[in-house]
Amino acid sequence: MRKVIVQKFGGTSVADTEKIKNVARTVIKEKENGNDVVVVVSAMGHTTDYLVKMAKDLSPVPSGREMDMLLSTGEGVSIALLAMAIQAQGYDAVSFNAMQVGIITENVHSKARIIDIKTDKLRKNLQEGKIIVVAGFQGVTEDGEITTLGRGGSDTSAVALAAALNAERCDIYTDVEGVYTTDPRIVPNASRLDEISYEEMLELAHAGANVLHPRSVETAKQFNVPLRVRSSFKLDNMGTLILGVDNMEIYKPVAGVAADLSQARIVVCDVPDKPGVAAKLFGSMAKEHISVDMIIQSYARKVSNTNDIAFTVDANDLDKTVAVLKKLREDIGASGEIQVDSNIAKVSIVGAGMIDRPGIASTMFETLAELGINIRMISTSEIKISCLVDKDQAYKAVEALHKVFELESDEIAEVKGDLPNV
Ligand code: ASP
Ligand code: MG
Repeated sequence: MRKVIVQKFGGTSVADTEKIKNVARTVIKEKENGNDVVVVVSAMGHTTDYLVKMAKDLSPVPSGREMDMLLSTGEGVSIALLAMAIQAQGYDAVSFNAMQVGIITENVHSKARIIDIKTDKLRKNLQEGKIIVVAGFQGVTEDGEITTLGRGGSDTSAVALAAALNAERCDIYTDVEGVYTTDPRIVPNASRLDEISYEEMLELAHAGANVLHPRSVETAKQFNVPLRVRSSFKLDNMGTLILGVDNMEIYKPVAGVAADLSQARIVVCDVPDKPGVAAKLFGSMAKEHISVDMIIQSYARKVSNTNDIAFTVDANDLDKTVAVLKKLREDIGASGEIQVDSNIAKVSIVGAGMIDRPGIASTMFETLAELGINIRMISTSEIKISCLVDKDQAYKAVEALHKVFELESDEIAEVKGDLPNV
């Protein structure tokens, strides 16, 4: 049987018609290797940002349904153009949107999860020798409503398609040459990793490394899809392979350092110290589809029998979170104020090699202390340590941690775009 390869090209790789021609050539090359090819594309260049901006000009809080109707159009443009470009180079190609394929999602707007992908149409067209171009980022509910998977979601579309088609590999073509030990815009001599495990990549993606949509890594891990991140412009560079941890040799305790500047911290003060309060609080967040990241509950004060609960959310969810909390306050009997701070960043070190190796956390804390950086919250997993710091200290912290854990290379990485301002 012929092998299926799923290729995904991001917005920068299809930013104009010249680049689309280039993508068509890369796709055809894979087809010429004797493989069946399914291509997933994002919207061209900054199209999605532009669409978001127009919506915000018209309404401060656009309806989720209309927002998804709008944003899904971006990918519709690129699939048709890429299919045309492939046809113009003499190959048979067909484009499909999510509704045509049957990329079924839950009924949630702007960050829907994929539940199922129908493969009959895809298989039939592959059998007929066609190259298939599928719109990333979008989905459809059982009732035929258009949804989107969240910003950057085309990666997840690609991996989910690869899983559904039992593909040999999913190649994510992008404007960087792979996964680096940290953002080369912060540390120019960051090293490109040849390999990284799903587990580490997942932690890095959640920690703010913007290479891959976190859910794409989750899906790849769940279905064991080998995932390669590579440059659309330097095809002889094999990029970074993401695979199961059991197949890897681990030399260093830390594989990467990341900063997430888009978090906000909330403290609910004077919450009664009794069973059910945290359940109610975070249950209400979950109902509103707000993901909570770090959580700290303070030690209970004996006199008042209350404690404070602090947690972080994505800065985009801050207004919604505060609205939920204001409604909930009486119900849970929280008598204190609700403090909000967006001037924070989460700095994380990630590595499967830190398991059973003592001293990694203390090295991190000492490094931050030497720079006079105050740690506001700490959270850990088996392979990650995150510290919440002031936003304007984040890059300094990343540089120092990258150095102390010996992640530098001799080469200067090529960088694209500017760092977000702090
Ligand atoms: N076009 C969407 C976005 O800009 C999806 C993607 O690029 O993956 O977020
Ligand atoms: Mg992307």
